[in-house]
Amino acid sequence: MKRAFVIGHPIKHSRSPLIHGHWLAEQGIDGSYEAIDVAPADLPAFLDRIRSGEFVGGNVTVPHKEDVFRLVDFSDVDTVHLGAFNTLIGQPTQTGIGIYGTNTDLYGFLANLDAGAPGWSDGLENAIVLGAGGAARAVAAALSLRTTGNTYVLNRTIERAEVLCADLRGNLRPAALDRFAELAPSAGLVVNTTTIGMHGTRFEGLALDHLPKSALVTDIVYVPLETPLLADARALGLRTVDGLGMLLHQAVPGFEAWFGVRPEVTPALRAKIEATL
Ligand code: NAP
Repeated sequence: MKRAFVIGHPIKHSRSPLIHGHWLAEQGIDGSYEAIDVAPADLPAFLDRIRSGEFVGGNVTVPHKEDVFRLVDFSDVDTVHLGAFNTLIGQPTQTGIGIYGTNTDLYGFLANLDAGAPGWSDGLENAIVLGAGGAARAVAAALSLRTTGNTYVLNRTIERAEVLCADLRGNLRPAALDRFAELAPSAGLVVNTTTIGMHGTRFEGLALDHLPKSALVTDIVYVPLETPLLADARALGLRTVDGLGMLLHQAVPGFEAWFGVRPEVTPALRAKIEATL
């Protein structure tokens, strides 16, 4: 039986076992996907359980994403610049099994918008990313693949935005949050990657009404599903996409690598996870 996992500390909150459990049952695969609490000090020893063949791989969440980045044997060239991995895959080598690390948040972010707002990046010039934390790295890197102009990374702590833009490739420009009103008229897309929106918190004084009427607003926070930012954007008649699809889509490449079948993000899966929010 193929066994996969999600590790974190704590890990009880993770919805990944529900997602992968749904696909395992749907495909009739003899496999498992377990949530395992791993304390930081135990991480190197846990990863050896992939090298020994006990697990085919798994997902990694807070606080281990940066640490596994340093502990894997091979890195995905397309996501190595993000500095953090969320997916590990055991791969045969000439001497045994090595661990391949990749970051599927970049894919998940793009796939969610492709599904929720088809054609969203056609002719897209400038975009605004709110936030410069871990998730913002994947989002900014994804946007630099799809925008022809600039992606402005606005953060409360400007130094963090500067580091992000210096670390990643593409036309990324750091800016302070209070420049939103000035940059909004030329932005076709706004993405919130900050924790604002969780528990109903909202950005104060964000001039969404300065955005073009054709702009798309998306939030990667998915609890609540409709954040105050999305509600405000919708009230202005702007298109919106919520963040749950990013969580679902980022799980696809890992499942395919571990279990050999590419699963689908279906309305039934979405409804199952939505019911837990
Ligand atoms: P993180 O690394 O801790 O970054 C947090 C970001 O929020 C930073 O930019 C921080 O700004 C900003 N922030 C926090 N409080 C703020 C405030 N009061 N005012 C202005 N900015 C504030 O977190 P993360 O790992 O990137 O995750 C961010 C959110 O994305 C979480 O809600 C997470 O659940 C969600 N997420 C969703 C998915 C998905 O699949 N949908 C994937 C990954 C993450 P400073 O730098 O100034 O502190």
